[in-house]
Amino acid sequence: MELNNNYKNLQTSYLFSTIAKKVLDYVNENPDKEVIRLGIGDVTKPLCKSVVEALKKASCEMGTQEGFHGYGPEQGYSFLKDEIQKYYYNRKINLKTQEIFISDGAKSDLGNILDIFSKNNKVLIPDPVYPVYVDTNIMDDREIIFLEANQENSFLPIPDKNLKADIAYICSPNNPTGATYNKEQLTTWVNWALENNAIILFDAAYESFVSEDNLPRSIYEIEGAKSCAIEFCSFSKTAGFTGTRCGYTIVPEDLSYGDLSPNKMWLRRQTTKFNGVPYIIQRGAQAVFSENGQKEILENINYYKKNALLIAQTLKKHNIWFTGGINSPYIWLKCPNNMESWEFFNFLLYNIALVGTPGCGFGKNGEGFFRLTSFNTYEATKEAMERLDNLLGDL
Ligand code: PLP
Repeated sequence: MELNNNYKNLQTSYLFSTIAKKVLDYVNENPDKEVIRLGIGDVTKPLCKSVVEALKKASCEMGTQEGFHGYGPEQGYSFLKDEIQKYYYNRKINLKTQEIFISDGAKSDLGNILDIFSKNNKVLIPDPVYPVYVDTNIMDDREIIFLEANQENSFLPIPDKNLKADIAYICSPNNPTGATYNKEQLTTWVNWALENNAIILFDAAYESFVSEDNLPRSIYEIEGAKSCAIEFCSFSKTAGFTGTRCGYTIVPEDLSYGDLSPNKMWLRRQTTKFNGVPYIIQRGAQAVFSENGQKEILENINYYKKNALLIAQTLKKHNIWFTGGINSPYIWLKCPNNMESWEFFNFLLYNIALVGTPGCGFGKNGEGFFRLTSFNTYEATKEAMERLDNLLGDL
């Protein structure tokens, strides 16, 4: 018996536990200070009314003989897949329902998708990055090449034409940087993938935050992408499903490598290892697409966006370089006075009781940067920005 030794190569992430410890120490030393947390990566607004009604109705159905649902289709119920198909169609993207797979969230599928790829593939991952891409590949002992994201490329790196890799991760709008690729940049990515016979794993978890018209919300807005990209999406940030768990993954039938089809392989993988998302939850997700559901989720998204704007305006006022905030709940800023990430963390905590996330926790290129999020209340964000405004004014 031998365990997977690759787990020894995973770095223990002390980021959020260290933050929690430092904040606790501060609170114990300063019981009279009100700490404001703008490091939150989770949504805070409750589920919208339409979703709650649908969840209640489906729960009641489950308690009746006629409405009971046992095992459902592993790849999701048609009522939800049809809505997702329409959602894409409204953006001029034609998907077949068998290309849509309902999941319990993007994180699981981003990890599980690696089941269909050889461990011999070389993987291209931007730095800084959402840590799941790195860790899931370390678990499989795949070779990882990091693509440098930095201030020079506005944290939107594009691979050199000659860079060789087999699997590439793109997250746009990005966590942690909030940076969002435009059509031209994504076209370069797609052409790179097509020329190199590489596949793009496109994480669109934050697509609903895109507000600028010229910015793609799906990789399939780019010509040729259906032949080289899988897209992961989620109701987590779109509709507050972080604790409810539902997402979807698009695996186009056009993807084809020799005699193997990722679409057929993913179907086989899911039907073998997954028994589907609960009926009740899928009914809740379906309600997101109703007329009222769309209005209600947009209200919540706009609430977070208003917070993001407030943060962005404060940073602009003090000439602090940042990305994100417009098409994303995240704002990624360069620490003033060339402070390092943890130095700035302590600076904010001890001067104005404000908590954010040190950028160095997301990769080496995150050093010297800092992530603020818009998931707190408007009142708390406003108070935080007033404190920050005064502090930066004194710098
Ligand atoms: N992808 C990115 C970039 C994320 O930031 C997150 C969550 O924070 C996820 C995926 C996970 O989404 P889900 O809740 O659908 O698993």
